[in-house]
Amino acid sequence: MTVSSIAIVGASLTGTRAAEALRSQGYDGAIHLIGGESHEPYERPPLSKRVLLESTAHADLALRQEWDSLALDLITDEHVVELDTPGRRVVMQSGREVIADRVLLATGGAARDLQAPGERLTGVHSVRDLEDAHALRAELHAAENVVIIGNGFIGLEVAASARACGANVTVVSLTRIPMERSLGARWGTLIGRRHEREGVVMRTGVGIAELHGTSRVTAVALDDGTVLPADLVIVGVGMTPRTELAEQIGLTVAGGIVVDALGATSNPAIFAAGDVAVQPAWRGEGLVRYESFHNAEQQGAAVAAAMLGCPAPVREVPWFWSDQFDMNIQVTGEVQSEAEIILRGDPDSDAFSAFHVSDGRLVGAFAINQGRDVRGAMSLIAADVAVSTEALADPSVDLRRLARSSR
Ligand SMILES: Cc1cc2nc3c(=O)[nH]c(=O)nc-3n(C[C@H](O)[C@H](O)[C@H](O)COP(=O)(O)OP(=O)(O)OC[C@H]3O[C@@H](n4cnc5c(N)ncnc54)[C@H](O)[C@@H]3O)c2cc1C
Repeated sequence: MTVSSIAIVGASLTGTRAAEALRSQGYDGAIHLIGGESHEPYERPPLSKRVLLESTAHADLALRQEWDSLALDLITDEHVVELDTPGRRVVMQSGREVIADRVLLATGGAARDLQAPGERLTGVHSVRDLEDAHALRAELHAAENVVIIGNGFIGLEVAASARACGANVTVVSLTRIPMERSLGARWGTLIGRRHEREGVVMRTGVGIAELHGTSRVTAVALDDGTVLPADLVIVGVGMTPRTELAEQIGLTVAGGIVVDALGATSNPAIFAAGDVAVQPAWRGEGLVRYESFHNAEQQGAAVAAAMLGCPAPVREVPWFWSDQFDMNIQVTGEVQSEAEIILRGDPDSDAFSAFHVSDGRLVGAFAINQGRDVRGAMSLIAADVAVSTEALADPSVDLRRLARSSR
């Protein structure tokens, strides 16, 4: 079937990168990029960092400076509420509709609710979009006691921002090890200790009983009976993928919209990518929902090729970063396993890298303030060649060059 009209639902990173890739692949049909937010697409990573500390306008975060060259129909402030697949209609809340031969669901997710009494009190925030970040910033600089619920990467980034604003900060979490899902136990523990060194109180292995206050939050009561005074609470307990449209048309949904490595769903005209998609793990078995900037960019480009029936770009090794205090944390590949770990530098210092090796091959890397090593490690992991542990440990060895020479 000739594809002459494509609708992308979700005008953020995945949707934008998919639209750009459609054009760069030579597709000259219609592209309707439809987003529920009132802004043109923007970057989310600064929302839990820079936007909380400095005055930042939407224009500072824009994903593109100009849209004309993409010649697309960018529709903002419109929620898609129905996909009529037999009629190829994509229907928006206002009643407006477009006709599309292919639909990409790039709907991301919403901040997950705490589901504890008091979570709707004033002074209780989450951070998913620009309005959330601006609302939090407006209160953060005057806050004395900040309680952050959740020790994942957004919770910890906000903790670092709140300390930079001078607040007393407590992070409360049921999980004992910070960022454990993405960093594994060793590096999660290290990051938790760095936070403690910066004055953050880490309360782990404890749940939330309720939030106290009449109209505004005043305290957080924990399961163990402790009551923490709080004039500001940030809930960072993960996100819920926006799968409503997929469910409405009977696509397979299991903790996200299930897709193959190219973003195809169980309906040949409908694709999904980015934070909302559950896809085959990069290497190894099982399905994974990656929540990272790099994945959104990669999958956005891959799904564009798939929608046009073009060969897919080579899948890159997963990678993400997080900025907390003076740490630029970067991770690639698999660092959760108990592989052999080769250190380059001292983990107690401000900058070091750690390489996870299994069966003589590099499978993952973790670094603080050594992004260059992580970029090199990505190339080595992708090359899937035997590596010398001496070379990994030696700071004078350029890992990218090593990857090139070993091919
Ligand atoms: C605060 C924060 C900090 C982050 N920091 C980092 C970081 O440091 N490093 C890193 O690697 N990653 C980071 N990320 C993750 C990264 O930003 C996401 O992985 C990326 O934004 C995912 O892009 P997406 O387009 O798939 O989804 P999203 O960015 O969530 O966009 C989905 C869009 O779809 C829209 N939408 C949903 N349903 C509909 C509908 N029915 N109709 C119309 N529009 C709809 C939404 O309004 C939204 O605009 C961060 C994320 C957040 C929230």
